[in-house]
Amino acid sequence: MPMTLPPLPYASDALEPFIDSQTMQIHHGKHHQAYVTNANKALEGTKWADVPAEDLIRRLAELPEDKRTAVRNNAGGHVNHSMFWQIMAPAGKGGGGEPSGALADAIRKSWGEFSHFKEEFQKAGMGRFGSGWAWLCVAPDNSVQICSTANQDNPTMGKDIAGGCGGRPILGVDVWEHAYYLKYKNLRADYLAAWWNVVNWGKVAELYKG
Ligand code: MN
Repeated sequence: MPMTLPPLPYASDALEPFIDSQTMQIHHGKHHQAYVTNANKALEGTKWADVPAEDLIRRLAELPEDKRTAVRNNAGGHVNHSMFWQIMAPAGKGGGGEPSGALADAIRKSWGEFSHFKEEFQKAGMGRFGSGWAWLCVAPDNSVQICSTANQDNPTMGKDIAGGCGGRPILGVDVWEHAYYLKYKNLRADYLAAWWNVVNWGKVAELYKG
């Protein structure tokens, strides 16, 4: 089955005032939709058309060379945004607060205080020049690490292609201007600081368990 745009798991205004409704509508309905449309168009009529997007981006090197860039950008965009909607929730209704359980332990092991983790994560988002993502990833030994990738790259594409840490992402923040410019203008730092209010730690913990 070709890729399809997953519905938002909440109303477009549910993340207000931290992420505005218009940004959500355009981000989901136009940007994410375009990644889906263009990924499907690139693979139409090939044996790759029905391969899940998560597998496509892990197997980029196996794709015909003339499809690789389109799949990297667009299937990558589809995978990244599908996760992004899931790991957010309305503030106070699943969004915000702090992680608990095994995930909290793993974060403490890597960074000590939760506030230190947040600082390092924001630094990764601020340090990404131009467009891309900051990620919290799980390594094979279940430790967690922070990395960043450009454009619509995803750590599961592998270090040699995407840079990053090569881990399995469980949290990601979109630092493309389209994710924040309408409300925050050029102030990416303000967007990143506000974004913690809508992080769905329950979902992130689920992803950590794998
Ligand atoms: Mn985006």
